[in-house]
Amino acid sequence: MPTERCYYEILGIERTASGDQIKTAYRRLALKHHPDHNRGDAEAEGRFKECARAYEVLSDPQRRARYDQYGHAGLRETPGHDFGSMNIDDIFSMFGDIFGGGGFPGGGRGARGRRGPARGYDLETSVEVTLEDVLAGCGREVSFTRLDVCTECSGSGVEPGHDPETCPDCQGQGKVAQVGFGGMFRMVTACPRCRGKGQLVVHRCKACRGEGRVRVSRKIEVKIPAGIREGQVVRINGEGEPPPPEASPAGEGVRGDLHVLVEVAAHDRFERDDDDLIVVHRIAFAQAALGAELEIEGIDGTETLAIPPGSQHGDVHRVGGKGLPSLRGGGRGDLVVLLQLVVPRRLTPAQRELISEYAKTEELPVHDKDQRSMWSRFKESFTS
Ligand SMILES: [Zn+2]
Ligand SMILES: [Zn+2]
Repeated sequence: MPTERCYYEILGIERTASGDQIKTAYRRLALKHHPDHNRGDAEAEGRFKECARAYEVLSDPQRRARYDQYGHAGLRETPGHDFGSMNIDDIFSMFGDIFGGGGFPGGGRGARGRRGPARGYDLETSVEVTLEDVLAGCGREVSFTRLDVCTECSGSGVEPGHDPETCPDCQGQGKVAQVGFGGMFRMVTACPRCRGKGQLVVHRCKACRGEGRVRVSRKIEVKIPAGIREGQVVRINGEGEPPPPEASPAGEGVRGDLHVLVEVAAHDRFERDDDDLIVVHRIAFAQAALGAELEIEGIDGTETLAIPPGSQHGDVHRVGGKGLPSLRGGGRGDLVVLLQLVVPRRLTPAQRELISEYAKTEELPVHDKDQRSMWSRFKESFTS
């Protein structure tokens, strides 16, 4: 089951963010996670690439619209760049215009921006359901992986029995002064050695390699409501990730959500049209001509449908309330029956005679003998 973070969450922006806000958020995060600022941090490169991927999609209005409607699944047809295998500098220069041309200035200080309690990332996963599931609603077990607070070190990243040490570069201040352009100005930035924390983890927790977070698998039961449609998302509050360690080492604050993208499998008999179900029903010439009481296999039982004499190929009838339930409540859609007139491929001699007689009443020119080849009649004598 793919587990991918929501692009808006990755960039720390609202779904309504403008193009400029997207650009600003990406610029800030790309600088923060640029591996040159995070030496020895193996995850920084992954985060950097994740941001590039999110920006690539959200900065393109068409792909953003598809993502908004269908989530990650909407992007399968236009996958974009494979950032996983791309070189960092190439990615950086791809969107180089938004960094003002030159390299990157020092010390992106982090992507807080949000007010209120720290909040973790939302996650996204998907489930496939059948039309029968849509009819009744269903429970689905969903497996996904997420980062959780390391229980060994309670998120501090420090091996139990040890304490973090004061950073010698900034004497625990978390800030250092840098002199630029031959002493023309002084700038106070986050200490690069301790990343502004003032403390260094010398004895890293073995369970999480000092990250304070471990990746865990999780299974939960998700309730898929009746009437759900392809591409809709069931949001499970509080099943996402805890706030990241830089915001809250022990993970206090608000967990993100899990977004479960629902895919509805194609059905072998029914087509869906909103809350209606469309079914093709084959009828014989005699039924069409004389009218008939038809038995239609609906999604939850057999329905009877009376068609009038003179019914035509392609006629549409509705059986009310035998479609799918509306997600908002208030009854079911219809079973829409599309008639398909089927002409027999073979006739018995008695049938031939009757239809020939019938043709005479309409004065239609027809073949009045069995015109099929000897060979096909020979074959038929074995198959029928
Ligand atoms: Zn740990
Ligand atoms: Zn320091």
